[in-house]
Amino acid sequence: MRRVASSWVVGIIWGINLLGLLAILGMIVLRLSAYPGEAKSASRPLIDSGPRLLFALPPTPLFSPTVTLFVPATPTPTPTPFSFELAQERREVIGYSYAGRPIEVYTFGNGHRQRMIVAGIHGGYEGNTIDLAEALIAWLDANPEFIPHDKTLYILRSLNPDGEARGRNEYGRSNARGVDLNRNFPVNWRAVWDRRGCWNVLKLSGGAYPGSEPETQAMMNFIQTHSIEALISYHSAALGIFPGGEPWDRASIRLAQALSEVTGYPFPPIQTGCVYTGTLADYAASLGIAAVDMELSNHHDIEFEKNLEALRILLEWEEP
Ligand SMILES: [Zn+2]
Repeated sequence: MRRVASSWVVGIIWGINLLGLLAILGMIVLRLSAYPGEAKSASRPLIDSGPRLLFALPPTPLFSPTVTLFVPATPTPTPTPFSFELAQERREVIGYSYAGRPIEVYTFGNGHRQRMIVAGIHGGYEGNTIDLAEALIAWLDANPEFIPHDKTLYILRSLNPDGEARGRNEYGRSNARGVDLNRNFPVNWRAVWDRRGCWNVLKLSGGAYPGSEPETQAMMNFIQTHSIEALISYHSAALGIFPGGEPWDRASIRLAQALSEVTGYPFPPIQTGCVYTGTLADYAASLGIAAVDMELSNHHDIEFEKNLEALRILLEWEEP
């Protein structure tokens, strides 16, 4: 009788052990299946390329919840995180988006020679350019001596705040009217362009007419009322540095080459066959500004150190 009872106890103990093992196995399987998109997203930067996209994005245009896994990179040299209070006295609202959100420029230095950085023209889709602008604003606020005495630097934090608010996905690329702002400037403008070789996940518009969007108008007004010599418009991702001008403007080419040397971003850029219409860089170049579209390596990282070097080039750059 005792013998029977003890083997019964042993059976229960082994049963509990088996249950435990099954639970551990179950947790491993669940963990592996919880992030099915990770392997894919790791290779996305190669094909997921902002305005100059040749290849289709992964087959589902609707973003899956894996998007929420996005974590902006924190650069090591950034001493203080960006806050609106921090840089408040440097902040100027230069206009409002179609949905009424402010478009902000932060000013550093007060020299007569002016330079400009524009981030977020493609909104949340290229949200890491906005992260970079914020990191640069915070860093420069703490290190104002980085700006030479004869220079003024303007940083436009987010040219497309409606797209930024919509989210970090393809739907965050246009403004609130479905216009691709980097197709809306009044140089080589088209309402609808030849999509071959271009980013074409959503059928965005170039606008009702050249410069039709309030964001574009705010940018045009700012450029026309300042004396900016050189400008970087940030994008992501991966195709490199595109000089402004059609054909490429000589000064813009020189700027692109100098930026490529310190960042490693490709110049000449990778050509996908897309013919770009109505871009900010082409518009700036048409006004005599050395201008480039410069793409970060992916949609996540801000690559702070190499872009601080890029800023140094932008500040020191001399008209050839
Ligand atoms: Zn872009």
